[in-house]
Amino acid sequence: MKIICIGRNYVDHAKELNNPLPENPLFFMKPDTALLIRNRPFYIPDFSNEIHYETELVIKISKNGKNIQEKFAGNYYDKITLGIDFTARDLQKKCKEKGHPWEIAKAFDNSAPISTFIPLSELHNPKEIKFHMDLNGNTVQNGSSKDMIFSFEKVISYVSQFIYLKMGDMIFTGTPAGVGKVGIGDRITAYLEDRKMLDFMIK
Ligand code: ZN
Repeated sequence: MKIICIGRNYVDHAKELNNPLPENPLFFMKPDTALLIRNRPFYIPDFSNEIHYETELVIKISKNGKNIQEKFAGNYYDKITLGIDFTARDLQKKCKEKGHPWEIAKAFDNSAPISTFIPLSELHNPKEIKFHMDLNGNTVQNGSSKDMIFSFEKVISYVSQFIYLKMGDMIFTGTPAGVGKVGIGDRITAYLEDRKMLDFMIK
């Protein structure tokens, strides 16, 4: 199983980090050891002083495929959940400056908390999937799949040109604006439509 993450997929978030809008989806990967499940607490690693949350829709690949055409890509995912793409923003800034890979900032252990996957068919409107994240009870991120620059189908089609997608792979599809730092004692709760999906502590 692999975890693919899309960067800069919402205009408002690309702007808040002063990043240019991409012509094609920008992606990177996390290893399976990044997963954090069952609302276990996230422990701030000692190599960073600036861990940011990024709340994202996460789709699960349901069928193996390579070079998947966009018009057929809808057949290659069937479940969705919410996840946090934890990012060591201080390390990422240094990586960007030096043109280095992002793994130390993005792929570290437990950097990908996720909730349980639910079938897309259970959503009110699979074309406009709304989500939000509350930090200590205050809503800090609000998103909708209709605001993504690259749709789920476009992302699957693009990534599968380079990487064979297998059943069970996950794709984090990018974060809307409102990213920010977490500190010890913070509580993250995240909702997909009106369902509470994540509820865990930062330690
Ligand atoms: Zn992200």
